[in-house]
Amino acid sequence: MQIKFWGVRGSIPCPGASTVKYGGNTPCIEVYFPEIDRLIIIDAGSGLRELGNDLMARQKQVEAHLLLSHTHWDHIMGFPFFVPAYLPGTHIRMYGPATYEDESLEQVVGGQMTYRYFPIREAELAANIQYFNLKEETLDLGDGIIVKTKYLNHPVLCLGYRIEYKDKVFCTAYDTEPFRNVFITDPEHHDYDAEMAAEGEQVAIEQNKMIEQFYQGADFLIHDSQYTQEEYEQKFIGWGHSHIEYVCDAAKRNQVKQLALFHHDPLRSDDQLDEMTEKYCNNDYCGETKSFFAKEGMVIEL
Ligand SMILES: [Zn+2]
Ligand SMILES: [Zn+2]
Repeated sequence: MQIKFWGVRGSIPCPGASTVKYGGNTPCIEVYFPEIDRLIIIDAGSGLRELGNDLMARQKQVEAHLLLSHTHWDHIMGFPFFVPAYLPGTHIRMYGPATYEDESLEQVVGGQMTYRYFPIREAELAANIQYFNLKEETLDLGDGIIVKTKYLNHPVLCLGYRIEYKDKVFCTAYDTEPFRNVFITDPEHHDYDAEMAAEGEQVAIEQNKMIEQFYQGADFLIHDSQYTQEEYEQKFIGWGHSHIEYVCDAAKRNQVKQLALFHHDPLRSDDQLDEMTEKYCNNDYCGETKSFFAKEGMVIEL
């Protein structure tokens, strides 16, 4: 597997002088299998535009599985700018979690392409595009490629992916934050119920354990790490994103071999990410797990 980052930012594209090094595009990851010439794309953020241009330069018909983590805008906004979608020879199988029972994946993604927002309608896409709704399940994509999915903890339905091929395991876990106890834990509070508090604690621990088991022992894990622990605890609990300290610790505890810290906050500058690399990507935080902050253009070979 060759895994290439085309977009690493959360929320909104943020091009500019302070983001040149790590990149300013929103999530898009290319997973290419050279010996069988198969292509999986994870997420259709603004990075997908450049991947599309690159695929055009490779001069072959595009046949790809496009796996969406979820349908927040930063993960689908690149699709109307994906040039291969306008070509008749292209075949895209798009998979994603169905968020609203009455709105299909096609409506959610294709809904960006109405005249109100965009000059071309979805119906004008010449490619063969098929849409599939996903739950927690296992998909056999043929040629020995197995894809497993896992629900994460985000304000909308969101899936992590586990791709297994020839004894190698590659996982994604974004956008997500650790599950918390949803019951009142302060014994002084007038609605405090000791039994509920204890049960809530147990549920959160078990749900977090299930996500960790999903990526346990992975050769490579890409994990939401938008905030530092301090930022998270001060302002962002419940926003659906993880903090770096938690991610490093969880990856280390679960024998992940290589970890990409991902979904950088759009406010984070190159200088800050360099400083954070110094601080976090070492034995103190990550133990044996090799870690780095994801950068556009970077390729990981498994
Ligand atoms: Zn996001
Ligand atoms: Zn999101």
